[in-house]
Amino acid sequence: MSQVVRRPIVAANWKMHKVRAEAREFCRTVVGELGAPPAEVVVFPSFPLLDVVADGLAGMPVAIGGQDLHPEPSGPHTGDVAGMQLADAGCTWVLCGHSERRSEHGESDELVGRKALAAVASELTPLICLGEQLEERRAGRTFEVLGRQLEAALAGGPQRFELAYEPVWAIGTGETATPEVAQEAHAFLRAELGRRVGDEGAASTRILYGGSVKPGNAAALIAQRDVDGFLVGGAALDARSFLAIIGACGAS
Ligand code: PEP
Repeated sequence: MSQVVRRPIVAANWKMHKVRAEAREFCRTVVGELGAPPAEVVVFPSFPLLDVVADGLAGMPVAIGGQDLHPEPSGPHTGDVAGMQLADAGCTWVLCGHSERRSEHGESDELVGRKALAAVASELTPLICLGEQLEERRAGRTFEVLGRQLEAALAGGPQRFELAYEPVWAIGTGETATPEVAQEAHAFLRAELGRRVGDEGAASTRILYGGSVKPGNAAALIAQRDVDGFLVGGAALDARSFLAIIGACGAS
């Protein structure tokens, strides 16, 4: 596979946390301390905070994204959000298939693929989340699950996307995959990408790791050959801890 330099991405997934004043405070710290980051930086706030974060980080090298979108471009879908509404709010990214959407909202692999296409149709980059449950790992089915999720996510041939490998057993649990375990899964995903989108596409796709990333474990993870950044939940609620994780991407 050809050697390309992949600029890391560090993304904050705020899930259903923060109110406007807290979001503003986070932005103030980032504006004061981010400098020239060694990574692309993205913040995924909940929908009511998008405007606060867009305003608070205006002019900064930070993109914003939605945590989900509906697969249809518009229509009678109460409580849902369309890709074009996210783009209109200043988003350039959207999460697709986060494990909490899969488990709490019954999102199927097939639906995640439709959402990825809807994202691209609205000029958003889908960050497609994949990952196995603990029982699946224990049963030796990790690669089978990742292969199935990837195939469905890319079935419609989205023209652009990036991936986040998030083992479900590591999300919000404090238990992080070891660098070796993460590397093994990332290498598998890159090889699978090669079969689906070709070597060049596979070599340039960023595969982020997510699952209890903290300032203290980020450097060892980013040092792995196929780990191209992070999707961070809990540790990205605090601006300084998020900044420290971004900083770890410049140390390797
Ligand atoms: C996530 O929400 O995608 C995530 C990885 O959360 P945490 O960092 O809290 O495990």
